[in-house]
Amino acid sequence: MFFIDTDTCTACDCCIDACPCDAIIIVDGQHTIDPELCVECGACYDACEFGSIFESDLESIPKQDV
Ligand code: SF4
Ligand code: SF4
Repeated sequence: MFFIDTDTCTACDCCIDACPCDAIIIVDGQHTIDPELCVECGACYDACEFGSIFESDLESIPKQDV
């Protein structure tokens, strides 16, 4: 899964231009990756010059006790 760090994102739109799936949308003025559309190709990660896109493996996050 790829995520955008909205604290460092400069809204340059390079990731939007790079995404082949139109998976990067703007919600409340902040760039966000729609996980329903993202195919995890990494093009946005390569395109971001500000290091604002990072990859996280959700399965590596410990599950909370129920
Ligand atoms: S990983 Fe690929 S498909 Fe997903 S948001 Fe980035 S450019 Fe788009
Ligand atoms: S390329 Fe990086 S800095 Fe530019 S809009 Fe996308 S996440 Fe933000």
